[in-house]
Amino acid sequence: MRAFQLIEPGVAELRDVDVPSPGPGEVLVKVAGAGVCHSDLHILHAPAWRPLPMTIGHEISGHVAELGQGVQGWDIGTPVLGYLCWGCGQCRTCAAGYENYCERYGRGITPGPGLGFQGCMAEYVVFPARFLVALGDLLDPIDAAPLTDAALTPWHAVNLAREHLGASSTAVVIGVGGLGHLGVQILAATTGARVIAVDLDPAKLEHARQLGAEEVITSDEEAAAAVLELTRGRGAEAVFDFVGAGPTLSLAAEVIAPFGRIVVVGLAAGRLDFAADGPPRGLPWGASVVKPYGGTRADLHDLLRLTQRGGLKVTVERHPLEDARKVLELLEAGRVPGRAVLVP
Ligand code: NAD
Ligand code: ZN
Ligand code: ZN
Repeated sequence: MRAFQLIEPGVAELRDVDVPSPGPGEVLVKVAGAGVCHSDLHILHAPAWRPLPMTIGHEISGHVAELGQGVQGWDIGTPVLGYLCWGCGQCRTCAAGYENYCERYGRGITPGPGLGFQGCMAEYVVFPARFLVALGDLLDPIDAAPLTDAALTPWHAVNLAREHLGASSTAVVIGVGGLGHLGVQILAATTGARVIAVDLDPAKLEHARQLGAEEVITSDEEAAAAVLELTRGRGAEAVFDFVGAGPTLSLAAEVIAPFGRIVVVGLAAGRLDFAADGPPRGLPWGASVVKPYGGTRADLHDLLRLTQRGGLKVTVERHPLEDARKVLELLEAGRVPGRAVLVP
């Protein structure tokens, strides 16, 4: 089968590899769609992922193709989504449902497909059966692939700030690309907050406006003043940073309201000035910062239901698997509207 594999840091290519066989408790999934995440660019450029070669891709939809020994409850051909945080299922944190923060991996990342295991930019991928979620027949499997991360992660992020998002609140979403364009919709559909979108790209801002952002602001030196003006000087009750760069973290700190919550999802390696003494430096009083990873399986079920009811729509651009490298280049150049999905 064809698989887009990371060979060594910075080098990824389409290769011919054997179709994997599902072991006990595992399921072979025929990939329908593999979403291309900005994290794939971080993974591509990261110093050391093991094992290599590793097929990348962690956003997946597909159909059950073969059952490993002992697997029950799945029929061949059933459309599925793949959950990306492969927690151990045995620790206290997994037992509480937070497999995305599994204790087995210490202070490191909970691994998953394309994140330590063989991923889904391929014709087939093997999944532990318990990480599959039935997709149902209401959604196109290819368009649904980004639900497993591009929607899951902002869904979890919003949950972590939900108590700040009442009817009179304002939420700022910085970076309205793959994750952010869904973050805007999740805020609009599930909270009372007014949404302000911030991005560098006017097309992304226009897209965010169509998806429920009441105000849109260009990400520049005047952005903080614009948010403060829209919030009568107090700032926003929640800020979601889907970029995570120095300038966006500074913006988050400048516009977060006292007692507000900053949720940093983006991985652009920026630093936030916490400053333990009072404003004007650092954060206002009562502000908190949270750094989520992925989401829970329950989150995936919840957002799937909202999507099936028509409450969430991924803007998808389809590409053949052969174009994986080209699509990563487009993403790096900021030229993917919504989410690109590779179709094997
Ligand atoms: P994307 O490339 O699709 O979107 C990024 C958006 O940010 C684009 O619209 C771009 O124009 C905008 N942007 C870039 N610089 C900006 C700036 N200075 N100010 C405002 N907007 C700016 O990326 P994505 O796939 O949505 O991923 C976003 C980030 O989230 C990446 O860093 C990714 O690695 C990370 N991520 C984190 C998790 C997690 O669990 N924490 C999960 C998935 C992705
Ligand atoms: Zn991702
Ligand atoms: Zn665990």
